[in-house]
Amino acid sequence: MEQLAIFGGTPVREKPIYYGRQCIEQDDIEAVAETLKSDLITSGPKVQALEEKLCEVTGARYAVVVANGTAALHLAALTAGFQEGDEVIVSSITFAASANCVRYCGAMPVFADIDPETYNIDPESVRKQISSRTKGIVAVDFTGQAVKHDALAEICREKGLLLIEDAAHAIGTKYKGRPVGSIADMTCFSFHPVKTVTGGEGGAITTNDERLYRRLMRLRSHGITRNREEMLHPTDALWYNEQVELGFNYRMTDFQAALLLSQLGKLEKFSARRKELVKKYDREFSQMPELIVQKEIPESDTTRHLYVIRLRPERLTCDRRQFFDALYAENVCPQVHYLPVYWHSYYEKLGYKKGICPNAEEYYRWSMSIPLYYSLTDQEADDTVRAVKKVVEYYRK
Ligand SMILES: *Cc1c(COP(=O)(O)O)cnc(C)c1O
Repeated sequence: MEQLAIFGGTPVREKPIYYGRQCIEQDDIEAVAETLKSDLITSGPKVQALEEKLCEVTGARYAVVVANGTAALHLAALTAGFQEGDEVIVSSITFAASANCVRYCGAMPVFADIDPETYNIDPESVRKQISSRTKGIVAVDFTGQAVKHDALAEICREKGLLLIEDAAHAIGTKYKGRPVGSIADMTCFSFHPVKTVTGGEGGAITTNDERLYRRLMRLRSHGITRNREEMLHPTDALWYNEQVELGFNYRMTDFQAALLLSQLGKLEKFSARRKELVKKYDREFSQMPELIVQKEIPESDTTRHLYVIRLRPERLTCDRRQFFDALYAENVCPQVHYLPVYWHSYYEKLGYKKGICPNAEEYYRWSMSIPLYYSLTDQEADDTVRAVKKVVEYYRK
């Protein structure tokens, strides 16, 4: 058997590849350069055009572009009205920002367990976590797969909750033919460089509700309004604007918006390549009894942001750490998405205990993400498969 690189063997690849990377092409660069020469370089016509484009892509009535995905979540949580004394149910396997936005408002996240096969929030677990203090749900389309909207919508209707969808992974995904972004009360996107389309940094909230939209727009820029109907002291003076609540500067620059507009024009080709790679990985890994591949629900037409492999401990002699390190030494560098949020010491110090979400904890124990991005070549994808097979064969029981 071939010696693993970690034990001095030859690595599958000479140059490392990572789990994600952006794809910036010449026309993206030109779009940015062009905008840098224009009169307005912070929020201006490109931001407005991007908001229109996002409405077109998601089918939402309104879009509010902001500085990053975390700012999008923060504004959505504030606009939802979450405050001290409230509880908000949050997916347990997600980036910390999904829960942090609840804390920014002074409310407490309550973690719901994941479905052990799809890794998305389990509506049954959501139901069990509801109390008289529950005000809403932050549900994450983990890896890009849409959450079970029908079940979540039923719970929200029944209990009067508001649904924020954290779709940082899921631009381009559809649920029962409807694009993510037009389904939840508010949907948040991130345009960080590892996500499917990027602005360097960037985020957005989409909604169909005009009232939520107006508040989001105001909070994005200091809580200041130029709309006389929103003022306490309206006047027709041209210079006059009024800060009516405490907002932020969460604006995006126009050159980032130009980059994103250019990137969104490529969403279909980005999405198609990701789907192709997922199909290839699924084909290879579903034949290996040592691995579990993520289950896809038929309702979701998924543009995958991450590809997760999960080890079957009963078939392998290694733990996740050994598998991860061995793959890393082969220069196919994985990452783990994610630590159960409440395991972070910040949440531990708030009193959250291990054991709340057993499926999430078991998932975390055995999982890792392998390279998946638009510009990943066939050769690199083959190397990834070869490296995974090599490590599996070495540690096979
Ligand atoms: C990336 C990400 C965010 C945060 O987005 P930023 O743009 O980095 O602030 C939030 N939630 C999830 C699930 C993410 O993956």
